[in-house]
Amino acid sequence: MEQIVKIVSIEHLTHDVLRIVVEKPAGLSYIVGQAVDVSLNKKGWENELRAFTFTSLPDEDHIEFSIKTYPSHKGVTQQLLAANQGDELIIHNVFGDIHYKGEGIFIAGGAGITPFIAIFKELEKDHKIGQNKLIFANKTKADIILEDKFKKLLGTNFINVLSEDESANYVHGYITADLIRENIDNSTQYFYICGPDPMMEAIEKQLFSLGISQERIVREAF
Ligand SMILES: Cc1cc2nc3c(=O)[nH]c(=O)nc-3n(C[C@H](O)[C@H](O)[C@H](O)COP(=O)(O)OP(=O)(O)OC[C@H]3O[C@@H](n4cnc5c(N)ncnc54)[C@H](O)[C@@H]3O)c2cc1C
Repeated sequence: MEQIVKIVSIEHLTHDVLRIVVEKPAGLSYIVGQAVDVSLNKKGWENELRAFTFTSLPDEDHIEFSIKTYPSHKGVTQQLLAANQGDELIIHNVFGDIHYKGEGIFIAGGAGITPFIAIFKELEKDHKIGQNKLIFANKTKADIILEDKFKKLLGTNFINVLSEDESANYVHGYITADLIRENIDNSTQYFYICGPDPMMEAIEKQLFSLGISQERIVREAF
């Protein structure tokens, strides 16, 4: 599938993350947690495909992406920083394995939060937030995507870990096996991880050290 669609709106969610709402291609279907390859319908950029996760729900009229931008890479996300309403994107193949299996602890690093944005939106809609927890690692407070929304939704089950900011109510440093262990309770069935490769590897090692088996780990590398 390759369909050209227009950007409906584009705004900043944080200093370097864009929320882009796009027309929904006819016949597009996806499940919550999945991603799609996207390119710009702009001379020279049509074949530069990058994966972005849907942060909209499948039954919405539009599709939405939450995209961290890297101006220094001089790639697609830098181009998106200069994009406007009405500009066109090309939507390619939908893919991705991460999906909700049951209550547990969601562990995200930076833009790795995107599949969990969609999953939590759906849980909210279905009134199934339950005892799900979110451990979200970022560098600074300013990097936290949708902090207010997650606070409202999860209360004390939303744990922020900041490597570069020290502040009350925020864990300082990196995610540790101890932090994960402290958050495990009777409702913890699954561990969902999404973030950059080195982070994923570190977290998986920590989970194994806690005796968690591979079958209870759901992951997506960014
Ligand atoms: C399944 C999946 C889902 C994803 N979903 C999302 C999402 O929802 N939101 C999101 O924000 N991200 C998501 N990502 C990550 C996203 O795809 C990348 O961040 C994005 O491709 C970056 O594109 P870019 O063209 O701006 O930069 P890149 O493709 O990283 O870089 C462009 C070029 O710059 C060069 N380059 C690479 N690194 C550097 C560097 N450090 N310094 C200088 N130059 C460099 C390389 O030569 C590269 O070809 C997802 C990834 C996967 C695999």
